[in-house]
Amino acid sequence: MQAWVIGNWKQNPATSDDVDVLLNDLCAAISDIEQVSKDSSARCQLMIAPSLVHLAAVSSRLKATSVLCAGQDVSAHSASTGAYTGECSAQQVVDAGATWTILGHSERRQYHQESNDTLLQKMTHALTQGLGVVFCIGETQAQYDGNQTLTVIDNQLAVVKAFIAEQPELIDSLPTCLIIAYEPVWAIGTGKVPTVTEVSATHQHIKQTLAGFADSLSTMTVLYGGSVNANNANSFAADPMIDGALVGGASLKADSFLTIATAFSQASI
Ligand code: PEP
Repeated sequence: MQAWVIGNWKQNPATSDDVDVLLNDLCAAISDIEQVSKDSSARCQLMIAPSLVHLAAVSSRLKATSVLCAGQDVSAHSASTGAYTGECSAQQVVDAGATWTILGHSERRQYHQESNDTLLQKMTHALTQGLGVVFCIGETQAQYDGNQTLTVIDNQLAVVKAFIAEQPELIDSLPTCLIIAYEPVWAIGTGKVPTVTEVSATHQHIKQTLAGFADSLSTMTVLYGGSVNANNANSFAADPMIDGALVGGASLKADSFLTIATAFSQASI
């Protein structure tokens, strides 16, 4: 199965000059990755999600590479245009050069109170505008401590079930345009990680739940995110239930991103 390694740059870097520096390093690193992939027949799809203000420049620069570009969010209000100050629609994200968008990141759920209803609207706008969706789910520390992980995940995956109910004609296309990223909130940016065994069991549950929604969803890609770095990537990559990684902090340095991508690239041989 093809692996995916996605860099979520969040609200970084600060300036266009800093973006250029990171892109220069990345493009050099990426050509190394592409060499590894060619040599080993491994498959690892890379993707970068820069801030919206840098999206057009980054996507234009990455056009010459195999790396895809993603938004970090889209408006829930309208798929195209409207009187929604401060918002950016799925159509505008596509126009800026992205082919995917992250949705439901825990920071958006936490700071913008994104509900399942809101996320269903965003997912519908993104997918109907031709944007693939990296849909983030995961439990908080308190929910983890209370053994509620699977209940929380089931509740968050209800968005996918509702989407299917509303757009049954799109079910068969979902394995190629919807990726689930399991990101325990307590592991994001903290340096704390669940064991690979825990992640593997949770991914198995996610895959079984999706397959229960529709037979065609039995091949969905499920990524792990939360403090993945150059040192621990190999252990996650070695587990067949883990199809790749959504990477925050470590994606802001080309060498650590390269190391993570190489780990998944080689594990997918
Ligand atoms: C994230 O924000 O999606 C993430 C996984 O961050 P980090 O890798 O820094 O934990």
